[in-house]
Amino acid sequence: MSDSFAERLEMVEQRIAAACKKAGRPRDSVRLLAVSKTKPAEAVQEAAACGLRLFGENKVQEAQLKVPVCPPNLEWHLIGHLQSNKARIAANLFHMIHSIDSVKLMEALDSHAATALPILLQVNVSGESSKSGMRPEEVADAVEAANRMSKVEVHGLMTIPPFTPDPEKARTHFIALRELRDRIQVETGTPLSELSMGMSHDLEIAIEEGSTWVRIGTDLFGARNYK
Ligand SMILES: *Cc1c(COP(=O)(O)O)cnc(C)c1O
Repeated sequence: MSDSFAERLEMVEQRIAAACKKAGRPRDSVRLLAVSKTKPAEAVQEAAACGLRLFGENKVQEAQLKVPVCPPNLEWHLIGHLQSNKARIAANLFHMIHSIDSVKLMEALDSHAATALPILLQVNVSGESSKSGMRPEEVADAVEAANRMSKVEVHGLMTIPPFTPDPEKARTHFIALRELRDRIQVETGTPLSELSMGMSHDLEIAIEEGSTWVRIGTDLFGARNYK
């Protein structure tokens, strides 16, 4: 991509605004999480200079190195799988964790967090075995477990649908997550206002189906080079 970060951000912002308009939702009902995984601190700095404050990383170790060399006033979110043995570091590094897939992990975070820690429960709504996340049947118990904890606060649900070239195919998974959220809210009496769903290629569909956090990497920072 030869265009500047500011131009790519403008494109993403236009897509978000158009999707909100189509869905009859206010723009500020959707947060843009800039997914900076694999990208250097300079890329984060450039994004921050364009006004972005919310950043997503998928690995604790990478974030541990990056966060201290980035501007101090940013909010960091973990969006990748977390192992219990890294719970202490994660609880103190991240503002919110989108990828909670077990009660055991919540317990580990609860015992290490110094202050309130917002979390989202990652759900495998498609049932595809390669996807991580808890099964829909496990979510109500996990919410109730979180409600008994002192630091961990469950704010909603997250999902990653199976990749399909046609983003429209993700819609059924986004609907499934929203409907699960609606049901669990009633069942547990716990407000679950956040839905973290939608990435570069399917953010419009996710916003139409109620997303409150779109997690955008490629369309902001360019393609990732895994080496
Ligand atoms: C990498 C990643 C993203 C960003 O994906 P893009 O397609 O690059 O926008 C979003 N969510 C999760 C969980 C990711 O790991």
